[in-house]
Amino acid sequence: MKVKLLTIGDEILIGQTVDTNSAYIAQKLNGIGLEVEEIISIADRSETIIQALQNSISETDVLITTGGLGPTNDDVTKLALCEFLDTELILDEFVLKELEERFAKQGRELNKLNRNQTLLPKKSIALRNILGTAPGIWTEFQNTIIINLPGVPFEMKNLMKTEVLPRLQQKFNLPFVVHRFLSVSDYPESELAIALEGWENNLPQHLHFAYLPERNKIKLRITGIGKVKSVMEKEIDAEVEKLVPLIGDRLDSTTRDTIEIILGEKLKDLNLSIATAESCTGGNISFLLTSAPGSSEYFKGGIVSYATEVKERVLGVSNELIQKHTVVSSEVAEAMAKGVREHLQTDVGVSTTGVAGPAKGEDGKEVGTIWIGIADKNSVTSVKYFFPYLEREDFIAQVSRLALQNVFKFLNGKI
Ligand code: ATP
Repeated sequence: MKVKLLTIGDEILIGQTVDTNSAYIAQKLNGIGLEVEEIISIADRSETIIQALQNSISETDVLITTGGLGPTNDDVTKLALCEFLDTELILDEFVLKELEERFAKQGRELNKLNRNQTLLPKKSIALRNILGTAPGIWTEFQNTIIINLPGVPFEMKNLMKTEVLPRLQQKFNLPFVVHRFLSVSDYPESELAIALEGWENNLPQHLHFAYLPERNKIKLRITGIGKVKSVMEKEIDAEVEKLVPLIGDRLDSTTRDTIEIILGEKLKDLNLSIATAESCTGGNISFLLTSAPGSSEYFKGGIVSYATEVKERVLGVSNELIQKHTVVSSEVAEAMAKGVREHLQTDVGVSTTGVAGPAKGEDGKEVGTIWIGIADKNSVTSVKYFFPYLEREDFIAQVSRLALQNVFKFLNGKI
């Protein structure tokens, strides 16, 4: 099966929009056993789209495009498709009726541009888009299925889930692909590979194993392909059970969950609450914690103590301590963590103090220096990192994740 993706839009070509649609579609297609062979981005000009359709169509089973289905003049995908198919646009009564009903509920009437969106190429069928006004388009042309989806990511995602994937699965009687992820930290990849060598060599042929190293951790992926999803899942479960003792206590998780979800589950299991005192992460750790469903059970609140005076006045960090050790220090990180857990009356406090740059911190500390403090009622500890070359945004994201990872380790007695 040959699958190609075509993302349409000038904004992608000038780097204004990052093409996340392709990554999402490729991942979802992979989940039903379809591998994408090629991804191309092109300008939203009619002749370019027609040319790309002509080039892509040969020896392609499925071609998916995103973008250019909107109501405005710069959205030319549908007209280009029509010209390519050598057909005309005709009204889709069903799409029109549904859109009219939807607009009526909002007390609105369709304007002429919205009406144009209910016209589809004669040889095509509409894919129902409940989140937008442009339907997706499904066309079977020669030996290729051409699928046109809107560029807006949330509309495209919903259409993939509700229309495209089920139709493709039915059309091609596709097998299921099941992935399982394990997360391991503080384990050099080569050492881990040696520890798992024997297990990996005995893995059945239809299961595949991959190492996906990230900063400070390694994700492991087991993939199975088969006709019956539940059988595949059971087989993978059995392999995970074998892996757990081989990895030992450096295994963080046997799910694909993010660290905020993994930590949230841990806090719930231990019936502990947490508060944050953030300096250089500016509230991002609180944001991550609150993005996990059910976080109200353990996350009590946070203090963004960006300025030194807030560290002193609100968190109770003593001026002497700051003078003696500087504001970006192990001592101050620990005092912040202790201060916030006392102030917000939680079991655990986590803090960050560092210099994200580009300018040096107020006490001349090197850009990229960061201390993370963690305290509970019995103990307090801190961890230092140095990320001098990260962009500010990446620095904040990285430090936030590390803070949560370190709290997780702290709760497991690993630091
Ligand atoms: P609309 O009805 O909004 O005009 P459309 O199908 O015409 O939808 P575009 O106008 O091409 O889509 O894109 C709409 C928005 O979707 C863009 O502003 C961009 O932010 C986002 N977008 C488009 N293509 C992609 C892509 N490949 N990856 C991520 N986002 C995208």
